Amino acid sequence: MLEKVLYPTDFSDASKKALDYIKQLKQAGIKEVVVLHVIDEREIDAIFQHSAVRFEDIVRSIRAEAKKEMGAVERELGKNGFTVKVRIERGIPFQIILAVEEEEDVSAIVIGSHGKTNIKEMLLGSVSEKVIRKSKKPVLVVKR
Ligand code: ATP
Ligand code: MN
Repeated sequence: MLEKVLYPTDFSDASKKALDYIKQLKQAGIKEVVVLHVIDEREIDAIFQHSAVRFEDIVRSIRAEAKKEMGAVERELGKNGFTVKVRIERGIPFQIILAVEEEEDVSAIVIGSHGKTNIKEMLLGSVSEKVIRKSKKPVLVVKR
């Protein structure tokens, strides 16, 4: 039932909790994990507005950092016996997460309740809230 899941990550501590949970879900039948990181277009724009660095250079350095983080996640899941597919995309995170959900035809999404911002008073982050609202598949929300 949970053969192939989508794990979107912003590499935050909260999203790493979801990764720990996926490892425990091996017994529940997860075989393949599609790990997705979305480089937020709006963040690139914000950095671009406030620096003299070329747009493409900003993208390149953010992408290089994401690749490093992604490598660690890939190794960790691989070591635990999962088939892993990694994707780094650029856009608005919730939109890309929903598009990849369809494209990869996953059986569920495993997502953190919070991410990098991690405000104490918020029940959910805005990305997880939108994904829960709009996803066609079950969403497993792992609490921080
Ligand atoms: P907000 O972004 O609204 O300020 P937040 O950062 O605390 O709040 P979210 O961004 O909603 O919370 O993060 C919740 C979960 O959504 C994360 O644990 C992660 O699984 C996923 N997520 C968030 N941002 C991204 C991203 N850029 N790419 C992939 N997954 C993401
Ligand atoms: Mn966030």
